[in-house]
Amino acid sequence: MKRDQLIFNLIEKEQERQENGIELIASENFVSKQVMEAAGSVLTNKYAEGLPGKRYYGGCEVVDEIETIAIERAKELFGAAWANVQPHSGAQANAAVLLAVLNAGDKILGFDLSHGGHLTHGSPVNFSGKLYQPFFYGVQEETGLIDYKQLEEIALREKPKLIICGASAYSRDWDYEFIRAVADEIGALVLADISHPSGFIAKGLLKNPLPHCHIVTTTTHKTLRGPRGGLIMMGNDFENPWGLKTPKGEVKKMSAILDGAVFPGTQGGPLEHIIAAKAIAFGEALSDEYKAYITQVKRNADAMAQALVAKGYHLISGGTDNHLMLIDLSNKDITGKLAEEALGKADITVNKNMVPFDKRSPFVTSGIRVGTAAITSRGLVETDMVQIVGFIDEAIINHKDETLLKDIRNKVNAWMAKHPLYK
Ligand code: PLP
Repeated sequence: MKRDQLIFNLIEKEQERQENGIELIASENFVSKQVMEAAGSVLTNKYAEGLPGKRYYGGCEVVDEIETIAIERAKELFGAAWANVQPHSGAQANAAVLLAVLNAGDKILGFDLSHGGHLTHGSPVNFSGKLYQPFFYGVQEETGLIDYKQLEEIALREKPKLIICGASAYSRDWDYEFIRAVADEIGALVLADISHPSGFIAKGLLKNPLPHCHIVTTTTHKTLRGPRGGLIMMGNDFENPWGLKTPKGEVKKMSAILDGAVFPGTQGGPLEHIIAAKAIAFGEALSDEYKAYITQVKRNADAMAQALVAKGYHLISGGTDNHLMLIDLSNKDITGKLAEEALGKADITVNKNMVPFDKRSPFVTSGIRVGTAAITSRGLVETDMVQIVGFIDEAIINHKDETLLKDIRNKVNAWMAKHPLYK
């Protein structure tokens, strides 16, 4: 076959874009070379429906070993009793959990998307809001912190079958114990989606939901710095509360129900090349080197938050416990959309984001979300955060000045050239 130069040229162009810019998208990171190598390996050729030792295809001896290592490393990393490493993405992991524990039309209670939640936690445009009956809690307007009283009130009134905690744009830790206590009052299950802070949780820098929440999901590609993918875990495998039986007449464990909800419930063959890359990333995350990395992510986030506040930016909740910050630009005379565009012209990549109680639409927004996971992978430290905030501020103040934005871009490109991505 002729090499598809059209696509390879575009991949090279994307690599240059990643090399040249300052990547502040909170959900992105840069994987190691060995993670990428596994993701691009011959394992992409293999079908392996089923689980290690219980496949529907022959020739699975090697991928069985790989997937078993991935499962064992995930369990060790988070202190889980059970894990399924097959979900193709975070959304797929959540789809499997919802399929496992709910019937169509059941009530769920999640964190409002417009306050920082995720689409899969009940948004009306997502399967989770179409197939189930969603209710939402949010943050308090004055503090920007989760309104646990509201969560409790709605839970006691509506009696959802599932309470979902976790977020895409919330910079503080969660009170998992409280949520579990509320769930126990109404006989609900709790799902914690730790997609964003999972790297901190793995290394003990934020609270671990596994002892409190029945089921935990995460993406593997954010702070965890693995390939794009999902993971489902439980701290304690338990008998399903509905008394569903196995063909042998025993009450089914939740692990069996969740495994079945991944395959055949929502997916076909697992991506064994991605599972190998997950296994490598989990191995990396078990190391002291990763502990130093994730500790630096936090230091950088603190330094960036302080520098932003010093320049008059309003951070929702006033600061951060993790890698991300939600910046409310209402006092800066610029929308999230225009800020994203201006920063993009300076090769600083962020995403526009609704802020709680936003009066603008999701296409315009009053805020931007930034995170330090990716720039920390490039070796940047606290003092660099002050410089980055200087660039951000200059670009936002002068967002109509194309010459100045180009000037910042040149400075950004020269600076990032000193921090090569893949040496
Ligand atoms: N859950 C949360 C909290 C997320 O932030 C995201 C992605 O941003 C997802 C789930 C979905 O992950 P994916 O994009 O891999 O489907």
